[in-house]
Amino acid sequence: MTTSMTIDLKPTATPLSDDERAARMTNPGFGRVFTEHMVTIRWSEGRGWHDAQLTPYASLDIDPANMTLHYGQSIFEGLKAYRHADGSIVTFRPEENAKRFQASARRLAMPEIPVELFVEACDALVKQDRAWVPGAEEQSLYLRPFMFATEVGLGVRPSNEFLFMVIASPAGAYFAGGVKPVSVWLSKEYVRAAPGGTGAAKCAGNYAASLVAQAQAAEQGCDQVVWLDANERRWIEEMGGMNLYFVQGSGPGARILTPSLTGSLLPGITRASLLRLAEDRGYAVEEGKISVEDWQAGTADGSITEVFACGTAAVITPVGSVKSTDASWTVGDGGAGPVTMELRKALTDIQTGNAADTHDWLHKIV
Ligand SMILES: *Cc1c(COP(=O)(O)O)cnc(C)c1O
Repeated sequence: MTTSMTIDLKPTATPLSDDERAARMTNPGFGRVFTEHMVTIRWSEGRGWHDAQLTPYASLDIDPANMTLHYGQSIFEGLKAYRHADGSIVTFRPEENAKRFQASARRLAMPEIPVELFVEACDALVKQDRAWVPGAEEQSLYLRPFMFATEVGLGVRPSNEFLFMVIASPAGAYFAGGVKPVSVWLSKEYVRAAPGGTGAAKCAGNYAASLVAQAQAAEQGCDQVVWLDANERRWIEEMGGMNLYFVQGSGPGARILTPSLTGSLLPGITRASLLRLAEDRGYAVEEGKISVEDWQAGTADGSITEVFACGTAAVITPVGSVKSTDASWTVGDGGAGPVTMELRKALTDIQTGNAADTHDWLHKIV
């Protein structure tokens, strides 16, 4: 009923000059600089989706009793727009983000925005702010669709109205220093997600719960935290906000393993795409279980040669070393391995238009 809604375009009357925009886009880092517009779409009980607008980027007016502030009904997505050499601008598999957003919404008792409307909202913002899509290597426009409760009141129940938004931020490398291996801390005290919990949903609360473990990792001199399963604290799940891959052996006979989606892992779109790209290249690919002991022993006997993390923001990041309460070890030679770099290039080449889009993953906007 609402899928053919049009987005009312009300762009700024005072756009930035080319020079001012260029200045803001110099060394943007990650998530610090925002473009000039945003998209807002409202949902309320009875009316459904309505009032879709593209307006100048601006602060929101929030009532102190806004339900999100108290009970955390808040979900988000992350995807990127890339500028190709021919001037066109594309996003990567946006329908997958839309479908995952719907799954997150279901888990948090929120309304599902239609896939087409989600994609249309992203497209409208990118089209309006297309001058903000960087063209340099490793740069892109990061899109952040999100939705939160807007009902006012302290009763604990699902909100009867929500705001869906998209904002955009020009982005350089997520981790400073480019493809630099990270050190990880195996978190045994804290868990990210438990069976029956919200681990498979991209919700704000998962991140709130992760921050103290990330701080503990930093105290241990590590860059990132690796999450273990809640029951046994034995099985590897994810790294921070990224999925993990383990490479066994080397050369064309290498085998590639990623933890299976048990319900407490976030089903990454980068993870799913790399499964396909690894298969295309003839690697034996497996979704399965890997324990902390397997990781340590496999590194010691040389059977595990590379480990990397993957996600939209940082693409692929090698894991160089591991530390836990009772052991520490270096993965391979501690550097970025050849399979890691091959898969990274295969993926980024498709995204940036330097290789054929053999799986029809690109969505052309401009
Ligand atoms: C977003 C996210 C990922 C990566 O998902 P992509 O779709 O590849 O960006 C992995 N783990 C967590 C916890 C996440 O929030």
